[in-house]
Amino acid sequence: MILPGLFCKTDAMCVLLSVSLCFLGYLVCLKLIYNTWTRRWPSSSGCVLHSPGQDRSGVPRARTRDSLGEVRALLVTAHPDDECMFFAPAVLKLTASKATVRLLCLSSGNYYNQGARRKQELLGSCAVLGIPAHQVTIIENKELQDDPKAEWSIALTAPLILKHITTYSINLVLTFDEGGVSGHTNHIAIYKALSHLAFVGRIPEDCQVLSLQTISILRKYLSFFEMPISWLLPSSFSCIIGPNEYKKAKEAMLHHRSQLVWFRRLYILFSRYMFINTFRAIPVEKTDVKFY
Ligand SMILES: [Zn+2]
Repeated sequence: MILPGLFCKTDAMCVLLSVSLCFLGYLVCLKLIYNTWTRRWPSSSGCVLHSPGQDRSGVPRARTRDSLGEVRALLVTAHPDDECMFFAPAVLKLTASKATVRLLCLSSGNYYNQGARRKQELLGSCAVLGIPAHQVTIIENKELQDDPKAEWSIALTAPLILKHITTYSINLVLTFDEGGVSGHTNHIAIYKALSHLAFVGRIPEDCQVLSLQTISILRKYLSFFEMPISWLLPSSFSCIIGPNEYKKAKEAMLHHRSQLVWFRRLYILFSRYMFINTFRAIPVEKTDVKFY
């Protein structure tokens, strides 16, 4: 005869054991995906660059080499801290693979009159990420203010970005997508400028433009537990970083001391963008349509 109390206790233990086994199985899955992802990078990333003359329809070919020494990347952001808050995995993977990475930040983040301080913080963050100060450009323009209510004009931002691309023979541009990751108007303005340049055929022949995919808020705060979803969903370019690189991403974030309010500290712990980046290619037109 089984006593009711004993039955309940056994039942509860069974549930606990099942949950523990499921969680353990999930951790093993994460480890397997992480190992596969990192072992095959950059070929597992979807793409990095295509050679001249190849398809530019937005579905670029994969590269199989470990070194990305020929990659001259330009990260275009709106504010100091965007580079580590959203793009740290991509920047760290590219710099570790010997790619040249430049940063074009279109404002000094002067919303609270902290522009001068934030510029210094940005340089500190970039140094941790592997971008030397001479490869960082911060734009100071009264028409490009850090303000979610400010509409940045394409007529102003597009030529600035294009000049950078041509001056430094950039062949890979990284920026936000139409959702701007956080929905910030300034982020979205950069996507619009690059989409415009791509649409009118002003992006050089050998240059590829990638936009960082905005994901749902639920996925955004699953930290590295979100990994299987990013792994399974299609993307043109993707990066994942491990514990050592995460420490660097965190260190870069900590350089932005003026921004370290409590929810930023939670962001460092829980944001999936601190571990994983997935990008979509912006299709580039070959025809050079008249610009303005
Ligand atoms: Zn921003």
